[in-house]
Amino acid sequence: MTARFRKVLAANRGEIATRIFRACTELGIGTVAIYSEEDRLALHRYKADEAWLVGKGKKPIDAYLGIEEIVALAKEKEVDAIHPGYGFLSENPDFADACEVAGIAFIGPTGEMQRRLGDKVAGRKAATAAGVPVVPGTPEPITREEEALRFAAQHGYPIIVKAAAGGGGRGMRVARDARELAEGLEAARREAAAAFGNPAVFLERYLDRPKHIEVQVLGDHHGNLVHLFERDCSVQRRHQKVVEFAPSLALDEPTRPALCEAALRIARSVGYRSAGTVEFLLDGQGRWYFIEMNPRIQVEHTVTEMITGRNLVQAQILIAEGKRLSDPEIDIPDQAAVQRRGYAIQCRITTEDPQNGFAPDLGTLKAYRSPGGCGVRLDAGSAYTGAQITPHYDSLLVKLSTWGLTFPAAAAVMHRSLIEFRVRGVKTNIPFLENTVTHPDFLAGRCDTSFIDQHPELLT
Ligand code: ADP
Repeated sequence: MTARFRKVLAANRGEIATRIFRACTELGIGTVAIYSEEDRLALHRYKADEAWLVGKGKKPIDAYLGIEEIVALAKEKEVDAIHPGYGFLSENPDFADACEVAGIAFIGPTGEMQRRLGDKVAGRKAATAAGVPVVPGTPEPITREEEALRFAAQHGYPIIVKAAAGGGGRGMRVARDARELAEGLEAARREAAAAFGNPAVFLERYLDRPKHIEVQVLGDHHGNLVHLFERDCSVQRRHQKVVEFAPSLALDEPTRPALCEAALRIARSVGYRSAGTVEFLLDGQGRWYFIEMNPRIQVEHTVTEMITGRNLVQAQILIAEGKRLSDPEIDIPDQAAVQRRGYAIQCRITTEDPQNGFAPDLGTLKAYRSPGGCGVRLDAGSAYTGAQITPHYDSLLVKLSTWGLTFPAAAAVMHRSLIEFRVRGVKTNIPFLENTVTHPDFLAGRCDTSFIDQHPELLT
């Protein structure tokens, strides 16, 4: 028997902080929120049993990045464990280490595991060592133009320059000739240094219109590891996911188990624990390649939860308590215990205006009414009538996830739910999402990562 945590702090904000609090409350665990001055009216603050202001006088983003302050607060408030959510400190191994040193459980993989997988260059090495194919690329970060040109001479264009520490589609540049390569190298290094504090970049062949398929894994502290099938996250804008679904419509029967097994091999090679995602690109010829592993919960985990009936955030918490996957509260004694049923789709509803280049829109939500009914799940940040949409944080308003026995059924629930939304006062991407989930290519599972670029009519 391992002891139940008494108090968990979410080192995050918005919908994922609320998601964590809900999971804790259902397990009988007390919840602690942190919030910045700009977030004093944010909903996540009121969803926790207690809430504390952090980052006084700091920039809005930095409030959620103060490792020392957050760990000291957690100690003072007698917190047993910290959940980092996604973004912010979730992939910062120093944060995981600092929690451990302070005697607070970190709900995620160890700092050491994050170092071996979180960085894209390190992840490629781990994949190669585990016998999993990676996109042809430079084995180490590069700094000089000559190195980039040498790679181009060997592999040809197009090439993608990527930040080793990158995430969220930032720190990437596609180059189609030598001039773009030189410029891309500089731009990606600059962006990576500013966004991630690490200018290291490397090169990969830029695949022609691949699909993005990722495998969810879950491991305990006792060496048990399972996958929870895959998600298709090909519907992207500027390399950022917009609509995700599970399972993929593109995997044939030999490919699905092969991908899931490859994900497990990589995770196993570092003794991975907690929830993690192994990302792959699948080309038009059915070839697939590892691109990176994300050692954290992901925005789109909801669709996996809907098709498997598993609660991934609760599983993370129980695992951090020391429970085995076979524990009745997690109830995954072996891989065969993970079954899937039906299809789930998630749309990221943002306060961005599709008719104005997806520019973030700001102001007061004059009205906010959300959909409901059979097959609908909502994970909202601060979405309520009267809420202020500010420029301080990302523009995710609410995640809408729907389920159906078939993919068209899940898409039909999504479409009618999008129509049910009433959001006034601030523009959203809902009209664009309606166009997307009713598009014949989407319904036929034909979307690849170029889908949005190829269909400008979706924006009207
Ligand atoms: P991030 O960590 O910023 O999300 P990823 O490495 O996961 O970056 O890539 C994000 C997206 O960028 C992918 O889903 C894909 O659309 C595109 N991408 C990344 N690498 C390649 C590549 N080698 N060829 C083609 N597209 C790529």
